[in-house]
Amino acid sequence: MNFCRGFSAVSPTLILVACVACVVRARPLATTADDTDAMHYLIKYGYLEPGEDHQNPFLRHIALLQFQDYFGLPKTGRDDDDTMKKMEEERCDLRDPVSSTALEIFANVLNLPTAGFDVLSDVPGEGQQRSWFKCTLRWKIVKPSQNLKESDVRNIVTQAMKKYEGALNQDQNEYTFSIEEARDQEDPDIKLLFVTGNHGDTFTFKKKDGVAHAFYPTEGAIHFNDDSNWTIKSKDGIDFEPAVYHQIGHAFGMEHSRNTSALMNPIFKRADVPISLSADDIERMKKLYPPRFCERIHMDRT
Ligand SMILES: [Zn+2]
Ligand SMILES: [Zn+2]
Repeated sequence: MNFCRGFSAVSPTLILVACVACVVRARPLATTADDTDAMHYLIKYGYLEPGEDHQNPFLRHIALLQFQDYFGLPKTGRDDDDTMKKMEEERCDLRDPVSSTALEIFANVLNLPTAGFDVLSDVPGEGQQRSWFKCTLRWKIVKPSQNLKESDVRNIVTQAMKKYEGALNQDQNEYTFSIEEARDQEDPDIKLLFVTGNHGDTFTFKKKDGVAHAFYPTEGAIHFNDDSNWTIKSKDGIDFEPAVYHQIGHAFGMEHSRNTSALMNPIFKRADVPISLSADDIERMKKLYPPRFCERIHMDRT
């Protein structure tokens, strides 16, 4: 969060009122056994910036409030049981687009309702919604899993891409999206890879740290940690299906959503929850690919 930048747009009176409230509410947090885990989480997912003073009780209090607000938890500003339990749920590696405006931070501090808007991060590749500027897209499993059957993975990805294609084509006319598996000679746009450890980007996978992430258009790569306990339709591990639907959403340009029914919520859906694009997902998709998008692409190219 860019806290200082947020202050600049607010009147001194409001800052004074809010800071008085901060002093009242920002009691120092006790150091607990979970302290390091909570701190690690808050930094990793964008609630605290790496350069900030993480021992500063005010900044940690704000970061916890932001996290609790994002996930609809009671806003205590403390690493309480509800907060720690939520942090343990399996989730995407990408950061959350937390509020960075002073007014939203103050609303959280004062425990007022927030507007609920997700604010885009300014970290390149981790929060900038972008769209593909074409309607024919090809995908490919570039590096298969050592643990999941490739045919199962291919079937799930094929179904997921069909669902995204259907959603994308809802408001197109004669020019539509075509999303298919790349043939051997074709260069894929969306590349799926199962990898481990340091695999050449800023997201190093560890055995129990890092599950999956993706890059926005026009990069379009999706990486799964092949050391994670992936399963298919089973609760005894991380169900691959909701994870891949979520990552494909990123590969089409979608950011995280705080809506718990959305596939783009950072927490992966459980294996027993039916997979479908929610109204929230479709609304976000339409912002990236509005009605007659493909017609405009076609006109631009002719
Ligand atoms: Zn994600
Ligand atoms: Zn990666």
